[in-house]
Amino acid sequence: MEEVRIKREAMEFILQASRNTYPDEFAGLLRKNKKGEIAEILVIPQTTNGKSFSSINLYNVGYTSHHCGSVHSHPGPSARPSNADLNFFRATGEVHIIVCVPFDSSSMRAYDSTGKELGIKIA
Ligand SMILES: [Zn+2]
Repeated sequence: MEEVRIKREAMEFILQASRNTYPDEFAGLLRKNKKGEIAEILVIPQTTNGKSFSSINLYNVGYTSHHCGSVHSHPGPSARPSNADLNFFRATGEVHIIVCVPFDSSSMRAYDSTGKELGIKIA
């Protein structure tokens, strides 16, 4: 299985933001550092937190953001991507993280742009 590497701080930020936003969805974009590790989460302003993740407003993301993918939370026990998620994945990059209840490191899943699951390694 292919692996994505993520910095511990970035993972903890995602889990904390997901808990804080619950029962709404948290959404953001991922940015890698020079070593290819996911190191930064860009929280998108004016993202409508709620039922539809596709309401994220990409026009607020500058062309210079250099994001490599996306992250969002599911306010339920499944971290499987929905059809809307898969459409969004194709449009936003090569690596996508979904975290579900209870928002701990074992409830985090990573996928490529086609929805194939990737391993997660904490860097
Ligand atoms: Zn989703």
